[in-house]
Amino acid sequence: YAKQQGGQEVRQYTDKMNHIAVDNLQLETELRQAINGNQFEPHYQPKVDLDTGAIVGFEALVRWRHPSRGLLSPKHFIDAIVKHKMSFDLFCQMALQIAEQLSAWQNMGFTQHVCINADATEFGNPRFFDVVDQLFTQFPIHPHQLHIEVTESSLMLRHINIKEQLSALKTLGVCLALDDFGTGYASLSYLQEYPFDFIKIDKSFIADMVDNRTQKAIVQAILDLTVALDMSAIAEGIETEQQRDLLLQMGCQHGQGYWFGRPVAADVATKLLTEPLVSKQTPEH
Ligand code: C2E
Ligand code: MG
Ligand code: MG
Ligand code: MG
Repeated sequence: YAKQQGGQEVRQYTDKMNHIAVDNLQLETELRQAINGNQFEPHYQPKVDLDTGAIVGFEALVRWRHPSRGLLSPKHFIDAIVKHKMSFDLFCQMALQIAEQLSAWQNMGFTQHVCINADATEFGNPRFFDVVDQLFTQFPIHPHQLHIEVTESSLMLRHINIKEQLSALKTLGVCLALDDFGTGYASLSYLQEYPFDFIKIDKSFIADMVDNRTQKAIVQAILDLTVALDMSAIAEGIETEQQRDLLLQMGCQHGQGYWFGRPVAADVATKLLTEPLVSKQTPEH
């Protein structure tokens, strides 16, 4: 009897595995269709001056306009993109749309920058540099308007040539940011090894800093470090006025988070730029 039941379990298990395999295959197929059909689009989250609330730039975050499932956020597909080696294609698709948007904003008189997220695996592609370089000949934008951010976790994989690729991008004038700072295993060594201009303090530190002395001390240490290294800090995931006030007191000038604005489609981002500043400093009670 036990044997019989065991057999059943095995069958259920293989059924389930088949299911997962079919799902994965379907996702991979759909992702290829999405790349070919231009279904990925950047949404833009404002990056602000914490003091005035003025928008200094945007972070571009990918969204997948899925033909039947609606707008999907990266948690549903970004790991699969990396796994199936489509992150370079995704980068190209995002970069083109962003450069076009930057040109449009520039025509309207806005010179804010846009940060694009890149996975470190993309730098392994020998065409990466050329694709970025070509953006500046193809579109009337300045290299300073394009920032590239790389997560600590993707640097951990230590792809060859990444240092050369990052240095080459720097010679173009592109700014580099180290994303999710403090969450990896070798945060400090990356600062020494790679030519970053900005450190993005991970939102997990910001979330707890108001109530947790340790987290607050870590944020202060990161801020001091950036000053000492001639870099700038950007706080991620600011959700409350208290967090913003504390960060300002501690000497952090720039940040982003739901308190200031969620990622929005390009037309909404344009409205944010053209609207006069809605003051968050004196909220109505
Ligand atoms: P990330 O680069 O660290 O981006 C910040 C994430 O936090 C975004 O999630 C953003 O919507 C969210 N966020 C912003 N403000 C707040 C806040 O105040 N509170 C909270 N709880 N969350 C906030 P999203 O858009 O789902 O992106 C998740 C991750 O996917 C990104 O983390 C980034 O690592 C990756 N990603 C996004 N777009 C791209 C892309 O175009 N290429 C690549 N390779 N990765 C991307
Ligand atoms: Mg990012
Ligand atoms: Mg981040
Ligand atoms: Mg992140």
